[in-house]
Amino acid sequence: MWDYFLDWGLAAFGDYQDAMASDEPFLFHARISAALNIGLLDLRQVCSDVEAAYWTQRIPLNAAEGFIRQLIGWREYVRGVYWLKMPDYAGGNLFGNSRPLPEFYWTGDTKMNCMGQAIGQSLKHAYAHHIQRLMVTGNFALLAGIAPSQICDWYLAIYMDAFDWVELPNTLGMVMHADGGYLGSKPYCASGQYIKRMSDYCRNCVYKVSESTTDDACPFNALYWHFLMRHGDLLRGNQRMGMVYKNLDRMTEPKQQALWEGGEKLLAKLDAGESF
Ligand SMILES: Cc1cc2nc3c(=O)[nH]c(=O)nc-3n(C[C@H](O)[C@H](O)[C@H](O)COP(=O)(O)OP(=O)(O)OC[C@H]3O[C@@H](n4cnc5c(N)ncnc54)[C@H](O)[C@@H]3O)c2cc1C
Ligand code: SF4
Repeated sequence: MWDYFLDWGLAAFGDYQDAMASDEPFLFHARISAALNIGLLDLRQVCSDVEAAYWTQRIPLNAAEGFIRQLIGWREYVRGVYWLKMPDYAGGNLFGNSRPLPEFYWTGDTKMNCMGQAIGQSLKHAYAHHIQRLMVTGNFALLAGIAPSQICDWYLAIYMDAFDWVELPNTLGMVMHADGGYLGSKPYCASGQYIKRMSDYCRNCVYKVSESTTDDACPFNALYWHFLMRHGDLLRGNQRMGMVYKNLDRMTEPKQQALWEGGEKLLAKLDAGESF
């Protein structure tokens, strides 16, 4: 698997590492996390192979830098956080979330194309790449106020590479911001616009990503603004959130009200056990 990636995937990794495409579960990703986590591959060797490919001009700088950064900058970083902060870390719940995980995480039965794609391939292959985990299934859980322990259990249950030391800081810290910003200095919250920019999912979705408050509006949009409004007391002071709160404050009162009501409606559906 590693040799195949060195020959065929790595050169394009830098350009496409954050991209998502319908019915393309693997794209230019290495699929080596499980092998690394059980010791079949050695992290130093993997990094040296990538470095060698760069110095022999087989791959561009953004591929070498991007790939080595994932290993040293993320994998080893989250490992450090886990061993430094456990066991208390697992109890973090900054936003006081208590909503149960929606049933469609276990079935993929949702009309949201991005969620259907990311969940469907995860259930089929026990695999999703980083941006699908962070900005699709993770982002939805953050915006919908899912209990951190429930979404953590889901990631731990379904992925081939899942181990507590790497899953927990990624989910509880990076995705849910439940550790109060210890791992990442701002929540990775995003509206449907981000998913539209990084994928082709929105083209084949019943929801309209350009709408926020109509019946056929992309659910990520109202949930995003609802999240920002309901946690303003915790997030407005964060300098990295300044721009998004400026955008919110620029909206008219009726627009803000409509977004709030749209978010409430969607959350009520989740509480009633409905999929959308
Ligand atoms: C919510 C969430 C949960 C995750 N849970 C796990 C998990 O249980 N086990 C796991 O190994 N990875 C986890 N990751 C990280 C990442 O999604 C996977 O390592 C990656 O998708 C594996 O596919 P790949 O080997 O094709 O990765 P590539 O995209 O090809 O990246 C190369 C390698 O970089 C490392 N890497 C990249 N990003 C991360 C990261 N954020 N944290 C740690 N290592 C990283 C992995 O070892 C990966 O094999 C999680 C990420 C998120 C956002
Ligand atoms: S429109 Fe919204 S729900 Fe549909 S794929 Fe795009 S981001 Fe996902």
